Parts: sequence; structure tokens; C-alpha cells
Amino acid sequence: MNAGEIFVAGTWRAPLSGETYQPINPANEEPLAPVGKGDERDVDLAVAAARKAFDEGPWPKMGAHERGRLVWRLGELIQQHLDEMAKLESLCTGKTMFDSGKVEIPFAAEVFRYFGGWASKIHGETLALRDNAFTFTLRQPVGVVGAIVPWNFPFLLSSWKIAPALAAGNTMVLKPASQTPLTALKFAELCQEVGLPEGVFNVVTGPGGKVGMALVRDPRVDKIAFTGSTEVGKQIMREAAGTLKRLSLELGGKSPNIVFADADMDAAVRGAMTGIFYNKGEVCAAGSRLFLEQSVHDEFMTKLTDRVKTLKVGDPLDKATRMGPVVSKAQMETVLSYIEAGKQEGARVAAGGGRAAGPGGKGYFIEPTIFDGVTNTMKIAREEIFGPVLSVIPFKSVEEGIAQGNQTPYGLAAAVWTRDVSKALKAAKAIRAGTVWINAYNLFDAALPFGGFKESGFGREMGSVGLDGYTEVKTVWVDLS
Ligand code: NAP
Repeated sequence: MNAGEIFVAGTWRAPLSGETYQPINPANEEPLAPVGKGDERDVDLAVAAARKAFDEGPWPKMGAHERGRLVWRLGELIQQHLDEMAKLESLCTGKTMFDSGKVEIPFAAEVFRYFGGWASKIHGETLALRDNAFTFTLRQPVGVVGAIVPWNFPFLLSSWKIAPALAAGNTMVLKPASQTPLTALKFAELCQEVGLPEGVFNVVTGPGGKVGMALVRDPRVDKIAFTGSTEVGKQIMREAAGTLKRLSLELGGKSPNIVFADADMDAAVRGAMTGIFYNKGEVCAAGSRLFLEQSVHDEFMTKLTDRVKTLKVGDPLDKATRMGPVVSKAQMETVLSYIEAGKQEGARVAAGGGRAAGPGGKGYFIEPTIFDGVTNTMKIAREEIFGPVLSVIPFKSVEEGIAQGNQTPYGLAAAVWTRDVSKALKAAKAIRAGTVWINAYNLFDAALPFGGFKESGFGREMGSVGLDGYTEVKTVWVDLS
């Protein structure tokens, strides 16, 4: 691959515009490697390649064991290129090397190995309904998948789509976020190395409104797998109606993290920290609303604010750093405007509350910020901030805690902290969200489905349910009379 090229039909080439742009390293505001500025014409070629690979190529017809082995081997190659992938991810996003190198790229490798195993286990059902018929179902690939991913977990969220799509025999075009395309391009090189047939996997970089929208509108694309903002998700859903595409939408969140008075306080404090400050709060499932039962509020806040002081903010490439800069200047300005809104609405700043000094005075760093005395109706409690800003909301009873937790248009994730198993399970049933953690936060596994209720979207990624989203069910009726 040369800088500025995209990957279409098994080859690297410049986008037809001939233009490039440079993503910015958020830690030092310096431009990174040039990236191709693709547009609708490149999507046209990439979709044609994916369509041909699906309709005529060997991939969907390949033996399941062989296809599974290739998907598995992609996981092994990701693991082998761990350091490089992790560094590329950290340079673009500002996430720490700990997050990218110890957590996310290894997790992405695991996702490929997990779905590689599934390729040979996709099956329909035989239904013994009547004597004069043999009836069964087949599970077949959906076809050409367009995957559109955001900048917060660029490669991990891509893996949640690529691995099941390929394992099931689909072909695809990936559109990475403009700010964070480098790991997607590196992965395309790994696809070449593993010998993936031409056109099975394509990457087109470029602006979402052009490249992403062209994928959504193209009648040759059978499914769009999107992760991103609720606003763009709604736009995609409207546009996809034109060709009745299959859709999976993983969208925003404003997840409640509910601490009951009988919880293990130290564990819950650690969970609150991970919930909001992992990846600088740029996490769709972030526990951005912390509900504290009134009787433990003061004790908890003392522990939490003490702990925040130990969170080392700085250069993401430094191994000691635990929180890097937010992804871009625009994102920094958005987060700072929410912090301002919190102050204006009368919430009390218990920690942080502004920009943090980066190395050399550069970079888009924000202090880990905690607002206390927040009400569920304040802007900072209603809207997704997508930054290191926590809203603490006190509550008095179990019912009130759960009811307030549910008071949001989103429904991606939630957590409850309690030693009372029946309280924990009642809360888990009552909370309208796709994932509920009990005495934990931000835990994920390739075998466990993830996705949203309500305006956090629909469809699930990972697990066998995630795989189902990349297959169509066909009924076959054989008349025996
Ligand atoms: P975004 O603006 O919606 O962008 C996401 C992706 O869509 C990017 O690749 C973007 O390309 C592309 N895009 C933008 N406009 C488009 C359009 N009109 N048509 C087609 N594609 C378009 O979201 P973001 O700001 O990157 O990501 C943050 C959001 O993602 C947050 O709301 C967060 O909650 C959500 N998220 C959800 C999950 C989940 O699993 N539920 C996980 C992570 C993040 P460009 O980069 O070129 O604009």
C-alpha cells in the first residue's frame, strides 16, 4: 500500500478524485499519513467488485471449513501485527497504548477467531411437519455488506462486522471514519497476505456524506451495518428505505450506572471510573449517568474524587498514561460546551471542569470531569456528551433509581451495583437496555451479543445472534406425494 491509496478488487490504487487528506494526531495536533479522499465513483467500483466476488467468486461457495480457517488466520495475523495496529489506532484516536494494545486489538483478533469457528456451524433446521413433504430451512449469506464505522473504536467495531460477515460468506465494503482509517487500511494488507479472494473485502476512505451515503443508496448493496451517532443512523434508515436494505444500527447511549447503598463501594468506585473514563468517555456504552443512593452519596463521592486525582492524563503512547486526548478539536469543543452547559444549569463541579495541559502545550486534552447534584432533566444528563464527563444523580429508593435510569431515549447499556442478588436481578429485568452489568462495567465478549434498545438502535453484534444478522433464512419445501 502507498499512502493515499484505497483497496478495491484486491488492488491498491488512488481514489478517482486523485485527492488525499491527512487525519490529525489529537495528542500533538500534527498531521498523520495522507489518506485517499474517495467518493461515490470509488464506491461504485468497490461495490461492483464485492458484487462480482459474491455472485461469481469462490467465497460464498467455498467449503465452510476453508472459509473459517481464513477468517481464523486473519485473527492470527492481527495478533502478529498487534504492536503496529495498536500504534496506528492510538495515533489516530488518542487512546492509550494500554487500551489499544492490551485490550482492543487483542479483542478484535479474538472476534475473528471466534467467528472463524462459526463458519462451519451455520445451519438451518429440518421440520417434520407432514408425511408427504420434506421441509427444511437454509441459512445463506445476505450478499454484499456495506460497513460504516465510527472513530471511537475504529478497528474493534470493524471486527464486529467484518468477522461474522466473512464467516457467513458475504463480501463487503468498509468505510472507516475519516479521522481513524489507518487500521482498516492495514487490515486490507492482512487480507492480501492471507489470500482472501479478490473483491471479498474492500476499503474506501473518504467523507461519510459521500462514501457512506453512496453505500447506503447503492441497490447492489444488500445490507448496511452501521455504528455511529443516532442522528446519522436515522438518516441512514430513511435512505435505506429506498432499496429496503437490511440494517443493523448500533447508535448512541446515555447509560445509567446505578449504585445501591449495599454495594461494595470500592468496587463500584472502580466501576464508575471505568464506566466513564475508559477511552476518555468516547464509548457508546459509557456509564455517563451515575445514580447514587442518597445514604452513600457522600462516602462514594469522597472515594471517587480521590481516585480521579490518580488518573494520569497525557501522551497516549506513554505506557503510564491512563487517559489520552479526545479525538479531535471539534470533539473537544463539543465536550467543553457541555461542561459549560452543566455549570450554567447549576450542577456542581466535583472534579476537573476544563481543558487539561497536554505534553508541549498541544493536544485536545480534557480533565476527567465530574458533576454532582445533577438532575435527570439537565442537558448534561439527557444528551450524549461522548467525552470524560460524568453526571452524578442522587436517588432515594430502588424503584426511583431504576425509573430514573430508564428515563432516556437511549437503551444501550446499564449497570447496577448491589450485594442483594434479587435486587440485582429485578433491576436487570426492569432496565430497558441491550446489556446490563451487575457489579461490573464495560465487559464484553465475542460470544455475547451487544446492541441497543430504543434509540440506541437495533440488531445485535457478536455471539451467534450477531452472526444471524449476516444470513438470510430460506425455506425449502419438497413435495413427496
Ligand atoms: P457519526 O458522525 O455518525 O459517524 C459514524 C460513521 O458514519 C463515520 O464513518 C462517518 O464518516 C459516517 N457518516 C457520517 N455521515 C454519514 C452519512 N450521511 N451517511 C453515511 N455515513 C455517514 O458518528 P461518530 O461521531 O463518528 O461516532 C460517535 C457516535 O457513535 C456516538 O454517538 C456513539 O454513541 C456512537 N457509537 C455507538 C456504538 C454502539 O455500538 N452502539 C459504538 C461506538 C460508537 P466520517 O467520519 O467521514 O464523517
